[in-house]
Amino acid sequence: MSTPALDIKGLHVGYGDARVLRDLSLSIGKGQLVALIGANGAGKTTLLRTISGLLRPSSGSIALYGKALEGRAPHQVVEHGFVQSPEGKQLFLEMSIRENLLVGAHGKRARAMREQTLKEVFELFPILEERQHLDASTLSGGQQQMVAVGRALMAKPTLLALDEPSLGLAPIMVDRLFESIKKIRDLGVTVLVIEQNVFKVLQMADYGYVLENGGISMQGTGDELLGNEHLRATYLGM
Ligand code: ATP
Repeated sequence: MSTPALDIKGLHVGYGDARVLRDLSLSIGKGQLVALIGANGAGKTTLLRTISGLLRPSSGSIALYGKALEGRAPHQVVEHGFVQSPEGKQLFLEMSIRENLLVGAHGKRARAMREQTLKEVFELFPILEERQHLDASTLSGGQQQMVAVGRALMAKPTLLALDEPSLGLAPIMVDRLFESIKKIRDLGVTVLVIEQNVFKVLQMADYGYVLENGGISMQGTGDELLGNEHLRATYLGM
């Protein structure tokens, strides 16, 4: 079997005495679009922050394309190719769209390619090219989310993680954004998406994981999970 894009084994993470992740293991194949779902407070963001090097696990291993990530500083994790677009976008609203995008390309590897990558981001989101010199504050919520995803792409990820990208967006914008996420996967980037929009994300995902009680309680293809009774009752109210 080829080396997974991301391989996490026996991860334990907490805040002080509060344990959030307990013996969590998951694996993401190269080029896959994988959904991670779970209730509010289940620990999804904690997992991303741990992979990013912002939190230290008390035990367990994290490997990105076979290279150990645990113990590395956040900028080193980005240089290795794990880039996340955080929940809530976190743009600089008084800066132009172009400047916001370029913020993503500050690493050594990404800086050298930034003009080419900017072109690719503009191909994916043409509206951002048209409006590139306007302040980010002039954009709608959906367009701001495009900037947040585009900024993460500017860092040249091999694994792109998106934390609740559909939060607060109108349904039509969610559909457009999810189409763009599929295109990013089709360009060869492995994608991990955290989502509350369980139905839509499992419809587009190649594979999904459910985080409950600090660990992975269920996994399967999007169709398998959508057919699971516990999942339907807990996350879809069916
Ligand atoms: P949401 O969908 O609401 O973003 P989540 O699944 O991403 O939830 P986390 O944000 O990872 O969950 O939080 C997991 C648990 O850790 C929660 O109980 C939360 O209260 C707690 N927690 C998160 N950040 C901290 C912190 N900095 N200090 C202490 N506890 C925290």
